[in-house]
Amino acid sequence: MGYRYVFGPVFSGRIGRSLGLDLLGRRVCSMDCVYCEVGQTDLLTAERDIYVPAADILDELDKWKHEGHELPDVITLGGLGEPTLNVELPEIIRGIKKLFPSMPVAVLTNATTMTDPEVRKELLEADFVLPSMDSLVASEFRAINRPSKGTDPTEIAKALIEFRKEFSGKIFLEVLLSRGYNDSDENLFLMKDFSTELAPDRIDVVTLSRPGTLEKAGPVDSETIGRWKKVLDAAPCKDRDCGPDTGAKKRSGADVTAHVQGEHSHAFDRIQASIMRRPQTAQQLSGALAIPLERVEQVLDELEKSGKLHVRQTGNDIYYDCRLDEES
Ligand code: SF4
Repeated sequence: MGYRYVFGPVFSGRIGRSLGLDLLGRRVCSMDCVYCEVGQTDLLTAERDIYVPAADILDELDKWKHEGHELPDVITLGGLGEPTLNVELPEIIRGIKKLFPSMPVAVLTNATTMTDPEVRKELLEADFVLPSMDSLVASEFRAINRPSKGTDPTEIAKALIEFRKEFSGKIFLEVLLSRGYNDSDENLFLMKDFSTELAPDRIDVVTLSRPGTLEKAGPVDSETIGRWKKVLDAAPCKDRDCGPDTGAKKRSGADVTAHVQGEHSHAFDRIQASIMRRPQTAQQLSGALAIPLERVEQVLDELEKSGKLHVRQTGNDIYYDCRLDEES
């Protein structure tokens, strides 16, 4: 069946083969980052609400479970915006754990809502929290993340440090650098102090390797990445900053074909759902969704003919995405 809120699995260099849950259903976020892969935020808000009822998401997940797919390494809350804006977050985490008792739950967050003690309490139920923090220089933060009014990066940093004191799971901090936006020395040294105090389990310094919202938001060079990694004592090169095929290349051909049975008929829906949330190359889609490359290319052709596909070249890689605006 086609899904609205369950997507993937997709590969992540940080957490492995991850089945995604979209908690917003549309582009609702407390930020409108210049590099956002899901496109421009439609509703910029810091207000929590039931954007998608927990019951709808968990119903889909239950159906996914009973379709007999191979289990992912982790279930990740994310999707088309900031997942912690969904006020039913605790019900969703508990529901996942009921359906998949031994499956770790990860939450991708821009951490803006974590200034609220209630949100921090809810996130204690997760196994991995993956906050992003791109700049502690207020003007840079505003320029790159374009947050909702009244959002202060220093308050977010303090909230993360508070959270660290109580959370027994793992925190993987991500810093995304964009040339001219947040690659200043001022930011680097503020981030150094912050990350030393936070002591996350892992720090990833990455740059853009996929198309974002703004064409002018470009990647930094490898020397800059190397310098930041050294100063922040970040993890070795993985995922986004290593080039787009890292995850897919890790999988052998036999591994991919083993997952294909029974999934062919859903290929169209799964590919469309996946590229609605994240631009990907045909090879990435094939590796992450365990669908043969030939079939992925057929589906991309069909989507292109229907006028739904955006095709963008970045370096030698061709990325496909299918924005909600084109959804019929
Ligand atoms: S990158 Fe994340 S935080 Fe930024 S606008 Fe997109 S969904 Fe929101």
